[in-house]
Amino acid sequence: MPEMPEIEAHAERLEAQFGGRVLTKFVPFNFTALKTAVPAPDAAYGFALQSVGRRGKYLLLRFEPITFVIHLMQGGRLLADTKLSAKPRGGQARFVFEPIEGDDGSGDETALLLTEQGKERRAGVWCVAAGEVDATPPVDKLGPEAAGITADELAARFAEKSMRVHGFLRDQRMIAGIGRRLANEICWTARVSPFATTKSLGADGAEVVAAAIATCVEDGLAEERERDEMSSSKQRTSAVHNRTDDECPRSDEHGPDTIRAVEYSGYTVNYCPTCQTGGKILADNTTSKFLK
Ligand SMILES: [Zn+2]
Repeated sequence: MPEMPEIEAHAERLEAQFGGRVLTKFVPFNFTALKTAVPAPDAAYGFALQSVGRRGKYLLLRFEPITFVIHLMQGGRLLADTKLSAKPRGGQARFVFEPIEGDDGSGDETALLLTEQGKERRAGVWCVAAGEVDATPPVDKLGPEAAGITADELAARFAEKSMRVHGFLRDQRMIAGIGRRLANEICWTARVSPFATTKSLGADGAEVVAAAIATCVEDGLAEERERDEMSSSKQRTSAVHNRTDDECPRSDEHGPDTIRAVEYSGYTVNYCPTCQTGGKILADNTTSKFLK
């Protein structure tokens, strides 16, 4: 699933391409695409796209009266659409803009198409009154942005509730914008166990983790900004994420060790024992199930 760096860079590209375009129509292709009834999307018809922003993993298409809040989920994409076919493959919704007249008399009718591959149909669009986005679902319950969070702010979040730091990082209500890849990368960068509790990490741990968040988010964003379109998960650089059995990148520093995995149904926790757990191998869920 795309995380903060991918969504942020994508918002920048969309704004460069579609900023200032006047919306003429919003077309949902199925009844699950639009998640809200009021206000209606047509409140934005005739208005120019002011900006494309991001909150957590949501894209924000801002028009003067309303903001479209979009979640891509796992397989969703929001991309320029020149074909304008009546039934686009995986099509969830289309934003149609007033055509731009070219100098040579030709018109650019490029629209913006939300697609989602697969059958889950979880990507969607929320229509929210401008100025009320932060107080309205789906973004109202989000924690502070991961990008720019200070050590003190993080320490305060750590103190609120004790939970495993890997779970904390992925919990959008605790901190927004981080997913499976970044949670793995941040724990490794900070040299903390993914299963350390936020309570045990305390203020000192929060300082180290906040610095790791900044590093991982900045690196991811710099890499993603180099691209013309959103990266696939396989294209993203990682030290430990999806690198089970690879050598730890710090092996020159600490001697040979390999990246280990703890598997869960929806994700894998990857870590280096030498860097993160004092050499301890954490029980793999899939193995320990058989031991019960
Ligand atoms: Zn290591």
